[in-house]
Amino acid sequence: MSHVAFVPLTGFRLREQEMAALGMSLPGLGARATAVGQLPALGLLTLAGGLPDDWSCSYHPVDIVSAERINEIVATRPDLVAVSALTASVQEAYELSRRLRQEGITTIIGGLHATTSPAEASQHFDCVVTGNAESIWPTILADHDRGELRPIYKAADTPGSHQRFSEPDKWPLPRFDLLGDRPHRFTLQTQKGCPFACEFCGASRLLGRFTEKPAARIRDELAAITAIRRRPLIELADDNTFAGSRSSDELLQALSDSGARWFTEADWRIGERPDVLQRLAESGCLQVLMGIESIVFRYPGMGQKQSELARIVDAVEAIQSAGVAVNACFIVGADGETRESIDRLVDFIERSPFAEVQLTLQTPFPGTALYQRLQRSGRLIDNRDWSFYTLFDVTYQPDQMTVEELEAGFRSAVSRVFNNAACDRRAAIRDEIWSRGFSKKGSATCPS
Ligand code: SF4
Repeated sequence: MSHVAFVPLTGFRLREQEMAALGMSLPGLGARATAVGQLPALGLLTLAGGLPDDWSCSYHPVDIVSAERINEIVATRPDLVAVSALTASVQEAYELSRRLRQEGITTIIGGLHATTSPAEASQHFDCVVTGNAESIWPTILADHDRGELRPIYKAADTPGSHQRFSEPDKWPLPRFDLLGDRPHRFTLQTQKGCPFACEFCGASRLLGRFTEKPAARIRDELAAITAIRRRPLIELADDNTFAGSRSSDELLQALSDSGARWFTEADWRIGERPDVLQRLAESGCLQVLMGIESIVFRYPGMGQKQSELARIVDAVEAIQSAGVAVNACFIVGADGETRESIDRLVDFIERSPFAEVQLTLQTPFPGTALYQRLQRSGRLIDNRDWSFYTLFDVTYQPDQMTVEELEAGFRSAVSRVFNNAACDRRAAIRDEIWSRGFSKKGSATCPS
């Protein structure tokens, strides 16, 4: 029997010291960071579901790479350690791999960063998988068993791959049981990617073409979750849930039948779709994360998502009137941003009806069109490595400000948007929305 240890690098990271201190002191930011840090690593749980019978596995989320955590992994005597990491934590993943390889353990990495930078990642890991690893996982394990593991595998559906794309209903069921008592929230993916290609977005296309899962398959995954927890809290790991051509009815019915309460990401146009609005709250949806993005710059690639702010706000109000909270996400620091425009954004947010707000710095993740554009024009800051790609640290030269001015402006915005009074105001909005939503669902249970 062979053993694989699955290790996701979890948690938020901040480099700039004043921003880190601010993040610690603002409860609104801290609560979201904790929630995100606790989300299960769905990709690794899916690989666990695809193991042959002669492989065992264990799951070890790592917030900080420490001797204690490494000893815990080594104690399982793994033949293989499979790691997932985001750009901001990838250097920690490299260090983890270095220390595991010193113990004679074979390491493998996948995910978005490894997909965009396989040559870099292969300097630190025995094996790198680009794209959706599920489709090539059996080949990797068979090669490992024969002692013929290759340094880089291109999964089906990634550029340059010649493998046949395996259909989503053939993907293995994620092993949610590996989470034990850990999860406050579960994750479930009903689609991969997005039909749009916003310039800054790494998730939309890099891992493969836009794909939607059949409703029957989603029901199977919901059943696997509800077998562990009745009325679970689920965060859909989708990039844009209702953006494809499938019927919303089947998806919403499956979620409704499961009894789950759920969150997702979608674009504002669902606020103009009666088929979604009428059933969203009664299906158990609590909140939709929605990218409104920059108020000073129109990103290429946003397609039909690009619209006037007033129309977007109307759509948000329609969603919230239907009993579902909207977490409105804004990007600070796009071309054209000034200290004055940052203040204007915060003034707008303070007057807005949004039930929750997310504010991050524009971040040119590798593989995105934004990264290529800033790199071509020499605007990436050389001495800021991947550990600065946190969404809260400046990584490029703004066009209208100095780096220090953008940092100060962002800190000022965060202080205003996430102070206690602003968070209390939005909490009151959420309570009012959810009381309306629960009356549709016929439940009196508070989601928090
Ligand atoms: S709509 Fe969202 S998921 Fe789709 S490309 Fe734009 S940012 Fe990415």
